[in-house]
Amino acid sequence: MRKMASNAASCNLIRSETGDWELVIGLEVHAQVTSRAKLFSGAATKFGAEPNSQVSLVDAAMPGMLPVINKECLRQAVRTGLGLKAQINLRSVFDRKNYFYPDLPQGYQISQFSQPIVGEGEVVLNMEGGETVRVGIERLHLEQDAGKSLHDQDPKCSYVDLNRSGVGLMEIVSKPDIRSAKQAQAYVAKLRSILRYLGTCDGNMEEGSLRADVNVSMRRPGGELGTRCEIKNINSIRSIGQAIESESRRQIDVLEEGGEITQETRLFDTKTGRTRPMRSKEEAHDYRYFPDPDLLPVELSQEYVDQLAKNLPELPDQKKDRFMSGWGLDAYDAELLVAERERADYFEEMVDGGAGPKRAANWLLNQHLGRVNKEGGPFEDAPVTAAASISILKMVDEGTISGKIAKELYDLVWETGEDPAKLVEERGLRQVSDTGTIEKVVDEIIAANPKQAEQVKSKPKTLGWFVGQVMQKTSGKANPQAVNAILREKLDIAGD
Ligand code: ADP
Ligand code: MG
Repeated sequence: MRKMASNAASCNLIRSETGDWELVIGLEVHAQVTSRAKLFSGAATKFGAEPNSQVSLVDAAMPGMLPVINKECLRQAVRTGLGLKAQINLRSVFDRKNYFYPDLPQGYQISQFSQPIVGEGEVVLNMEGGETVRVGIERLHLEQDAGKSLHDQDPKCSYVDLNRSGVGLMEIVSKPDIRSAKQAQAYVAKLRSILRYLGTCDGNMEEGSLRADVNVSMRRPGGELGTRCEIKNINSIRSIGQAIESESRRQIDVLEEGGEITQETRLFDTKTGRTRPMRSKEEAHDYRYFPDPDLLPVELSQEYVDQLAKNLPELPDQKKDRFMSGWGLDAYDAELLVAERERADYFEEMVDGGAGPKRAANWLLNQHLGRVNKEGGPFEDAPVTAAASISILKMVDEGTISGKIAKELYDLVWETGEDPAKLVEERGLRQVSDTGTIEKVVDEIIAANPKQAEQVKSKPKTLGWFVGQVMQKTSGKANPQAVNAILREKLDIAGD
């Protein structure tokens, strides 16, 4: 029997009959560099093109072709390093990593080994419940992506598509600082968010622009690091969680039966939810790394790096601090708002347009995001703009519509794309504040429900039932304050 220990200090330990286990995780994230051209050639990188339509002679490894570094990829890697508060190495070297794959025509991958472009940095995670987890970054290096073998086009043969061959990748390697599946998921989500803010990777996991290798090992709390297994190429945040859960269970079972973990590369099967062996672990020396003789070391000047640092956009953590200290939002709301840049922009537009920060946050996170998620998103395609949301909330403030109608109006705007104010006029959604009209409705309801009218005097809480009746009769358009006041007066209940 195993269960998660529950006290705060050991909340990430896995409890078993033989004692507690600590899960240790380190991630290698491969992020495709946002750049129109590949890392060492001028071929296009756009996703989804006809197979083999974006392949230069360099990408196809024709004899005598020479790689030429794409400066934009360097710039993006440095900007990413700065966003990860990392050491930028002014001198870095490209190496050849030798191995065979049908989709790797060079017979080696140009990568960086002992002298990567970016060194140590950090990603800070804000976990649910207020816990802060700091995950160290070991390094970020640039390398070429491989092509793609297609095994499902023909019953007998496999095809190779080289469109992806040579696309720039940033491999971002974390330290083994992660202690649970939840933290690993939060780490990838945060990293993805930072990359998207920077515009250095589109973060599209479904298209494979961002994928993770997950290293998992188990140890007794505080003990030596255990032997790790690396689960390759996971392409969704959900699968990362599942793969870690199942791999940690597998390792504990092996260890508790007195067995040993062998270091190996495994695959996660989304169908079974389990990992299975792929190959035994190769060592760095198996790849016969050596500096690529076709490429000079990369030399950057400090001024160049400083200039990029100066022009970095505001990142999620900074934005979050500003939302909290400037506008009094709590950490949880602020974290949700900054997770996507488009979401944060929408929120800021609402606040600038006069919606109070707390109210704008509630509206955006509940009303707007609720609908976006229900429709399956993407956020930026939602038909209700920030301007429309501002206009709806303004009409509530001015008493033109009730809070209840505001929600209906929101859905109408979503479905018709019409201007909210126009919809209010056309569909007769104006709030009824006219006391005469409300009084008439109240009188009718009291007359029709004498028993309830008697009861409400001893049980003032049942007043809500009357309010509901009036709202129903007026299709939600009666001004709630007016309804309350009139009901209290007619039913002879003191105001609160
Ligand atoms: P390799 O190329 O051999 O996978 P890297 O240095 O690229 O080596 O990546 C190693 C990854 O494994 C890092 O993310 C690191 O944090 C992680 N790691 C190292 N040791 C352990 C361990 N004992 N348990 C879990 N993760 C580990
Ligand atoms: Mg690796």
